[in-house]
Amino acid sequence: MNFYSKCNLCPRNCGVNRDNSRGVCQVSSTVKVARAALHYWEEPCISGENGSGAVFFSGCPLHCVFCQNEEISHGLVGKEITIEQLSQVYLDLQAKGANNINLVTGTHYIPAIVESVTRARAHGLNIPIIYNTSGYEKVESLKMLDGIVNAYLPDFKYWDSSLAKTYSKAADYPEVAKVAIDEMVRQCPQVIFDDRGFIQSGVIVRQLLLPRHTRDSKAIIKYLFETYGNSIYMSIMSQYTPMPQIKDTYPELNRRVTKREYESVIDYAIALGVDQAFIQDRKVAKESFIPSFGNEI
Ligand code: SF4
Repeated sequence: MNFYSKCNLCPRNCGVNRDNSRGVCQVSSTVKVARAALHYWEEPCISGENGSGAVFFSGCPLHCVFCQNEEISHGLVGKEITIEQLSQVYLDLQAKGANNINLVTGTHYIPAIVESVTRARAHGLNIPIIYNTSGYEKVESLKMLDGIVNAYLPDFKYWDSSLAKTYSKAADYPEVAKVAIDEMVRQCPQVIFDDRGFIQSGVIVRQLLLPRHTRDSKAIIKYLFETYGNSIYMSIMSQYTPMPQIKDTYPELNRRVTKREYESVIDYAIALGVDQAFIQDRKVAKESFIPSFGNEI
């Protein structure tokens, strides 16, 4: 089945033929990869000292105004490759010592991910596959990844749909993310680490605190804890970095998160009883942690 000829892979439901047209994700049916390299700045259970084998796909269906990776989300940077080459990329990262394969924003290439991982597994890929996503996913598409992906790393970006509408033109984001995370937990119901502490299976939900929006973050944390308890981990992130594109259009986002804002969210999570969460040192909110996207594949 050609999922790209009338593409409805994600909740945008563009219905376009990606061979000759473009939907919101801005990319064709041929896989385009912006960067594939060992990556050291994920949670410790993902990166470790060896690094995570990160594959950054070009294009994105969500397009948040504050995107930290804008040059790739618009599909401008990257190299088009075949399924066979993508499989080889995974195997090369494994040979370099990667702890896992970390597929970053692959929503719009799910069929290619299924094919390439299956092929790589047949050729000796034996490290976990981590699916690193905005959380804006359709359950039907996620079901294709059942048995392919070992661990999910979704964002839960917004609780308030008016924020989702303003910053991602996706008023349905909160409801979509809830259902998507539910499917991820169905597929990977418990977080399992190996004896070195690296994730082998499960779901870690990321929540990136935005300036002024502690109430939204707290609502997400409350929902996740009440719904999933200790069957998932959370990653509560302070690393928001204001990018040049929002300086004039969204001045309220043009600063880092304050220490007080972040501590208020962490204190709230602790008071709720959350004890399975990764938290960050605010020093990570520096642009230097955002990789540069050349054609390093
Ligand atoms: S994957 Fe791209 S083209 Fe397909 S529905 Fe989503 S945004 Fe539209």
